Amino acid sequence: MTGINISAGTRVAALLGYPVGHSVSPAMMNAAMAKLGLNMVYVALEVRPADLPAAIDGVRSLGLTGVNLTIPHKEAVLPCLDAVSDDARVIGAVNTIVNQDGRLIGHNTDGRGFLAALEGYRLNGKCVVILGAGGAARAVAVTCALQSTGEIVLVNRTRERALAIAERITDLTRVKTLALVPDAEELSQIYRRADLVVNTTPLGMEPEPERLPPIDPDVLHPGMLVYDLIYRPVRTRLLQEAEQRGCRTISGLGMLVYQGALALQLWTGEKAPVETMWEAARRELGIMSF
Ligand code: NAP
Repeated sequence: MTGINISAGTRVAALLGYPVGHSVSPAMMNAAMAKLGLNMVYVALEVRPADLPAAIDGVRSLGLTGVNLTIPHKEAVLPCLDAVSDDARVIGAVNTIVNQDGRLIGHNTDGRGFLAALEGYRLNGKCVVILGAGGAARAVAVTCALQSTGEIVLVNRTRERALAIAERITDLTRVKTLALVPDAEELSQIYRRADLVVNTTPLGMEPEPERLPPIDPDVLHPGMLVYDLIYRPVRTRLLQEAEQRGCRTISGLGMLVYQGALALQLWTGEKAPVETMWEAARRELGIMSF
């Protein structure tokens, strides 16, 4: 339910991804648009990787107000755009496009969303292990580096992708970075000193909630903060394993809300109703409180 009357003047924003069936964003964004009294709707559209350039042309030709990009389009979309903001350029990935009279401008609100959901946890000097090296990992890694973490270790099955992010961080900052595959020998030492582990892979997401990202849960220890970008389910298997071992945990729901609030603000110039977005996202996931 959007709570608005669709008319000839209704503006449209969309989420493009593959898959998108798991997304809470339509419920969350439509609730926010209704709360602000906007004549605007938000829909989720499944776009196969090969169809992304055509879909982006469609954003121009159909006059969509803007789009969000999700897995696996955040990096692939870059050549399809007219310009990118500083945050998207620095991160090297785009999760939000603003259509300015036919010119498509790419932004990245994932990094600031990730940071906001940390709720004051200080990254300064910390050892951060990031599982995965896709578009979301880029935003997380660059954000951590710009917050002066002590060390960033990227763990990914395709080492080249992790290496590319590590090189980006070395270009931008003096933060020590390492790019490793999941069975690298150095990892057992690294996990002993790790303060924060962030899962940016989709492993553990519905419809396969029993899956774990590439980490042995026995390396998790009290004092560690474990942050899973997945929000469906809210308590992933990784977070459950972490809680059983005395770790603090953060689910991806907060990041979803904050990155969405920033995107909405970019499209409309209005301050997003964050509480409404939290409520809608929780309702959609069937959680009354957590
Ligand atoms: P992406 O660009 O496609 O990257 C996915 C990463 O996961 C890649 O590093 C990939 O490894 C790895 N991966 C995928 N399947 C794997 C498997 N079977 N085994 C090992 N590694 C695997 O996707 P993304 O845009 O970064 O999104 C990743 C996840 O973050 C998604 O679940 C998305 O929903 C979530 N996310 C959440 C938020 C939020 O607000 N909470 C925001 C952004 C993203 P390779 O490099 O080897 O292919």
